[in-house]
Amino acid sequence: MESFTFHKVLGRGSFGKVMLATHLATNQKLAVKFVDKRQLLKSGPSIALAERCILEEGRECPYITHIYGSFQTKNHLAFVMEYLSGGDLNALIRSSAPLPLKTVRNLTAEIICGLQFLHAKEIVHRDLKPGNILLDNAGHARIADFGLSAKGVTESKRIKGRMGTPNYMAPEILQKIDYFTMVDYFSLGIIIYMMALGKHPFIAVKDNEEQIRKKIIEMNPQYPRGMNHNLRNLLTRLLWKDQDGRKQQVCDIRSHPFFKTINWAEVEGRMSRTPSESGPICLQPSNNSMHLNECINCMDQEAPKSPEHQEYFTGFSYMRDSLMI
Ligand code: ADP
Ligand code: MG
Repeated sequence: MESFTFHKVLGRGSFGKVMLATHLATNQKLAVKFVDKRQLLKSGPSIALAERCILEEGRECPYITHIYGSFQTKNHLAFVMEYLSGGDLNALIRSSAPLPLKTVRNLTAEIICGLQFLHAKEIVHRDLKPGNILLDNAGHARIADFGLSAKGVTESKRIKGRMGTPNYMAPEILQKIDYFTMVDYFSLGIIIYMMALGKHPFIAVKDNEEQIRKKIIEMNPQYPRGMNHNLRNLLTRLLWKDQDGRKQQVCDIRSHPFFKTINWAEVEGRMSRTPSESGPICLQPSNNSMHLNECINCMDQEAPKSPEHQEYFTGFSYMRDSLMI
């Protein structure tokens, strides 16, 4: 904790609070995600170790949020990650959707590269949604938040379990059928629809959970007249209800006419932005940095967990050999 100054909360999710921080030794801006050990003990502490391992594997891919290291305090686990200054896709959709077709196409191509990288490693994300797609300073997409991901999943090694965020779950999860990596393509279909049309393909604001479930399982989305027909065709494939049918529909997704102008080798080959290229990040002179640091220290003033509980988190902390950058 002493290695950082904390500036502000970047975001909150179901498990974590993410803070913008400066790493004092390198003056590097970073994002540190704190996860409460008490909450993890309820949901299964192995989740955090799995999340850290997946983030480490993702370092080879330019479309996955990169991790630099991890540490723990008495009450929290902390993931030290690159700071993605473009915010998340949820914020972009809220402020600017419908997005221009070119933006939709480029972001989709990048997310597909990230997803296919994960799926090739038998990792299913399971919580793909706009809040978990981050943007770097140049507007490139990064898949984030592997808190609900599972490893060792393929078409022939399917899994069970209701995991994810109901609005973005594939029909097979809602129907409690064994599922595989195709669940991520369904969620991607919802995300693309939202980027292109500014609304959810199935859900109205007032729907309750049962209505959401029913609509995702049964309803076909509406496509407005005049919509780009390649995009429409792509969406019907991604939002295919049956997972095995969906697999047939998306198996050659890179050759789909919607991506005619995409040079996949170029997208794949894009070097991931190194933090030093991002230029200086302007921060308000942080009067409240001190206050935040105190708050964070307070989070750890409570009684320590009993030693047997702490043992669950053994092996969580690690640092990349080449320090932060
Ligand atoms: P949770 O598991 O609690 O959902 P996330 O990893 O999704 O946590 O992070 C919550 C939010 O914090 C994200 O939606 C995003 O707005 C912000 N955030 C997360 N990681 C970063 C990062 N590396 N850079 C900038 N903002 C981030
Ligand atoms: Mg999240």
